[in-house]
Amino acid sequence: MRVTDTQVACEAAARPDVAEEYQNYCVECSISYIPEGQTSTFVIPMEPVMRENIEPRIGRGLPAGISFNGLRLDQSAPVDAILSAYTIAAFDDCGGHVNPHVGYHTHIVTDCQEAVESIEGETSIIGIAMDGFPILQPLSAADAKATELDECNGHFAEGIGYHYHAGEPASNKILPCHKGHTIKPERRP
Ligand SMILES: [Zn+2]
Ligand SMILES: [Zn+2]
Repeated sequence: MRVTDTQVACEAAARPDVAEEYQNYCVECSISYIPEGQTSTFVIPMEPVMRENIEPRIGRGLPAGISFNGLRLDQSAPVDAILSAYTIAAFDDCGGHVNPHVGYHTHIVTDCQEAVESIEGETSIIGIAMDGFPILQPLSAADAKATELDECNGHFAEGIGYHYHAGEPASNKILPCHKGHTIKPERRP
């Protein structure tokens, strides 16, 4: 098995246009490659406002949301790029890994995200979406409420209001989209 084992190799392999010599690789980027003391700032509206059209920014510099314990809940893992270069950046037990651009992030919701109890009949809240609506743990497919979720995996419930349910881990989609206004991310250098 071939694994990237230096920072240079990680950076060459952890991008959509993988350098030819790093095709057919397991991409392993160490948290030690991220400069110490690096911080990330996320701006989330405190009072979410619904948009008329769906917000298309997930995956254009904007994550799906942030968990209460500080995990970046990211866009879907890029299956097309993975399959075209035969590179895979394996997940740890939390469905997360490091890349040199955003640092540590997760692509699925597991029990690594600290959960806060919500209301009777709903799953626990694990964090907040970039439009300010809460993200709850996935609904099981057997739950009747799963059929009433909208295109962004959200619905309304008395007592908690509009909220999202993260997709099941196998769906490779924490959130498909945002229903509310998000704040445009700063351009990356
Ligand atoms: Zn990733
Ligand atoms: Zn719900």
